[in-house]
Amino acid sequence: MTVNIDWDKLGFDYMNLPYRYVSYWKDGQWDDGKLSEDANITINEGSPILHYGQGAFEGLKAYRTKSGKVQLFRPDRNAARLQNSADKLLMPEVPIDKFIDAAKQVTKANEDYVPPYGTGATLYLRPILIGIGPNIGVSPAKEYMFLIFAQPVGPYFKGGMVPTKFIVADSFDRAAHFGTGGSKVGGNYAASLQAGKYAHEHGYGDAIYLDPINHETIEEVGSANFFGITTDKKRLLTPKSPSILPSITKYSILQIAKERFGLETEETKISIHDLDEFSEAGACGTAAVITPISSITYGDDVHTFGDGQTGELTEKIYNELTGIQFGDVEAPEGWIYPVD
Ligand SMILES: *Cc1c(COP(=O)(O)O)cnc(C)c1O
Repeated sequence: MTVNIDWDKLGFDYMNLPYRYVSYWKDGQWDDGKLSEDANITINEGSPILHYGQGAFEGLKAYRTKSGKVQLFRPDRNAARLQNSADKLLMPEVPIDKFIDAAKQVTKANEDYVPPYGTGATLYLRPILIGIGPNIGVSPAKEYMFLIFAQPVGPYFKGGMVPTKFIVADSFDRAAHFGTGGSKVGGNYAASLQAGKYAHEHGYGDAIYLDPINHETIEEVGSANFFGITTDKKRLLTPKSPSILPSITKYSILQIAKERFGLETEETKISIHDLDEFSEAGACGTAAVITPISSITYGDDVHTFGDGQTGELTEKIYNELTGIQFGDVEAPEGWIYPVD
C-alpha cells in the first residue's frame, strides 16, 4: 500500500494512523498488549489522569535510512525515563522490553507512514502511561493504561536550521525545585502554556525558564534543554538542576561533542548573567533536534550569540546527530534499534 501524503508539507500535527498499541495494568500486572485500530479511548470519569494529572508521556522517532530500512533512536532511554516518571507519580513501571517491543510494533504496523529518506521527515511516536478507573480521592489509580500512537512529522525546520530568538520568562516557573520538572508529565506543560503564549505573542520562539529558587540560572528553553559552547570553542556546557527534564538528545550531544569533536563537556550551573562566556548556544530535544539560539532577551538586555547565525560547532554536531539518526553516520554502540 502506498499512502497519499505530501511528505514535504508535513508539520507537527495529529494524524489518525491505522494502528496504535494498547496495554492495561490491573491487579499487579500488565496484560500482553495489542494493536488497536481505534483512535479513541474510553476511560472512567473518575480516572486520576483526568483530575489529578497522574500520567506521563514520552516522545521518540522512527527514521527511514537511505537503504529503505526503518530504525529507532535510543528507545531504551525513553523506556528508562518513562520508568522514572512512573516512579515519581506512583505508577507501575512499563518493563523496558515491553516498551521497545510496543514501539517496534507500532512502527512496523504503520510502516507506510514512515516518511521517505531525504525528506527530513520522521515517524514520531508518542507513548503515554495514565492512571485510569473509578476513583475520586487523591490517591494513586488502581488501574493503568500504556498506549503508543504515531504520526509522520516534518523536520522542525524546513530548509535547514533557523536561528531563533528566545525571551526569559522571569515571572513564570514551569516546575518547582523538588517538584516534577525532571519527569515528563503533563502538568509541567499545563504550567508552561502562559509563558509560551507570552513569548510567542512578543515574537519569540519560546520562553526560557530560570531556576525556581533564585531565578538566576538557566533551566530549560521552552520544552527543550539548553547548551552553550564557550567562546574559545573548547567547552560545551549544559545546565544542571533537579527540575530540568533530562533530554536524551542533550546526553547524545554531550557524548558526540566529547568523543567526536574533542570538546570538554560539563553539566553545571549557568547563570543568566554569564552569557558572554558563550559564542554559540542551542536548544535540543527530539522534536526540535537542535535549534540554534540567536539571542536571549532578559529584561532590557538582549544577548546575541556570535553573529546571531548558526554556530559552526552547533552545525557540525547537528549534522553528526542527524547523520546517526538517519543511518548515514556510524552510531555509538547501542544507539540504533532496527525495526525488522
Ligand atoms: C521531552 C522534553 C525535552 C527533550 O527531551 P528529549 O529526550 O531530547 O526529547 C526537554 N525538555 C522537556 C521539558 C521535555 O518534556
